[in-house]
Amino acid sequence: MTTIADRLAVAQYRIAQAAQKCSRLPHSIRLLAVSKTKPIEDIIAAYDAGQRCFGENYVQEGVTKIEALKGSHGDIEWHFIGPLQSNKTHLVAENFDWIHTVSREKIAKRLNEQRSSELAPLNVCIQVNISQEDSKSGIEPEELTSLAGIIRELPRLTLRGLMAIPTATDNIELQRQELSHLKQLFDELKRSYPELDTLSMGMSNDLDVAVECGSTMVRIGSAIFGERNYSVESKN
Ligand SMILES: *Cc1c(COP(=O)(O)O)cnc(C)c1O
Repeated sequence: MTTIADRLAVAQYRIAQAAQKCSRLPHSIRLLAVSKTKPIEDIIAAYDAGQRCFGENYVQEGVTKIEALKGSHGDIEWHFIGPLQSNKTHLVAENFDWIHTVSREKIAKRLNEQRSSELAPLNVCIQVNISQEDSKSGIEPEELTSLAGIIRELPRLTLRGLMAIPTATDNIELQRQELSHLKQLFDELKRSYPELDTLSMGMSNDLDVAVECGSTMVRIGSAIFGERNYSVESKN
């Protein structure tokens, strides 16, 4: 039987292999373990194998896990990677270390107002729509510079970089086209803000291409924790 520790090691190995193929340092790519819909015991299993950053998609589920692990596993870095409605921004501002899905000024301003000065500033990635599907969320590339400028002025937020969810496809060429588009937008933005250091892209099925295209943080769920049960996932 493969364990979470085994699958975590395989994911790290895949990152290292992909990095080597394009002459990048494996350490320049962080692994975010996406634990949405999975029980706390699975998070602890990954933690015991050395994993420290975890990603959650659903605000309430994430907060419940953060509360439960606060005392015993306080060095976990929590990333919010799901869609966020404005009436739940305070939960992210109060509990998480990162959010990858900011795409509106209104949400950014609320997070800034609600982030306590006792906490470190909230790390932010702007989600960009690079997918050919209309339904995907994220800001349109033309509006990116303006939103980045606004977030940079908000003292309780630290702009770290960009994130995207590409079209779900096994077509490597399409993956490459979309992911290199995000990398290009990232490089352009870095000309104004050289301190940006995070390009959040790559999931279980496009990890290799994402690393090749310059990802600095891959978000891996099912390859570590196993397939998710759709009925559980859709309840949120
Ligand atoms: C679920 C999810 C992931 C992980 O996807 P897997 O295919 O399970 O690796 C990564 N990013 C986001 C935004 C997600 O919602």
